[in-house]
Amino acid sequence: MKVTVLGSGTSQGVPFIACDCAVCQSADPRDKRTRPSILIDLEPRATNAEPRATRYVLVDTTPDLRQQCLANDVRKVDAILFTHAHADHICGFDDIRRFNQLQQAPMNCYGDAETLADVRRMFSYVFTGPKQQGGGVPQVRTSVIGGPFTLGCAEVVPVPLLHGILPVLGFRIGSFAYLTDCNKIPDASWQLLDGVSTIIIDALRRRPHSTHFSLDEAVAVASRLGATRAYCTHITHDLGHAETCANLPPGVQLAYDGQVIDL
Ligand SMILES: [Zn+2]
Ligand SMILES: [Zn+2]
Ligand SMILES: [Zn+2]
Repeated sequence: MKVTVLGSGTSQGVPFIACDCAVCQSADPRDKRTRPSILIDLEPRATNAEPRATRYVLVDTTPDLRQQCLANDVRKVDAILFTHAHADHICGFDDIRRFNQLQQAPMNCYGDAETLADVRRMFSYVFTGPKQQGGGVPQVRTSVIGGPFTLGCAEVVPVPLLHGILPVLGFRIGSFAYLTDCNKIPDASWQLLDGVSTIIIDALRRRPHSTHFSLDEAVAVASRLGATRAYCTHITHDLGHAETCANLPPGVQLAYDGQVIDL
């Protein structure tokens, strides 16, 4: 399995609009952060894969989805998992159309009931008739996540998390877990993460925040899980990549856009 970090930034992205801080002005490409998303390749070494087989799983459709797909040469998306319905995680939903065209198939979209209801409300033109012909509307097939389910060759385990007071979903596949937009792991979810070795985890900044883990809190979660590799995401402009990574414990680093993690 292979994971590509499509976006590692907070909801506003980095650089912020009209900000002169050192990180927003940095020339280091790892300080350019689009909105948070990953692409999971379930079978990077498959040679004779059936073309219709589920292989590429996108997590969230950010407002930067189009640019992320261009930057990372994404050519196929078989399924989309939604963590929650905040704007920075769903506003690229309409770009699903291009994959409908390429694949001549509707897109399979998975989320909890509340998230899918919000998507239906925010993109009502996609779901309510009469459909405008020729205008181009995403073709989607939605499925409510009610527990672990199978995608291609993998079992996807939804991991309930808290993002302030909002319940959101993290996702575990094998020894990997993606835990964005959270500042608390409920007691019952720790066992769902038992044995993970690689995580991508929310770490907004150093100072505490009411809905996101801070860097220290993310490091503490990685340590409690016994994860050997932890990549921080949803990063704001407080954290420069090079200087922050120089002072993190072994195995912990900031993720960056375009990073590929082999599992
Ligand atoms: Zn977010
Ligand atoms: Zn800034
Ligand atoms: Zn959020």
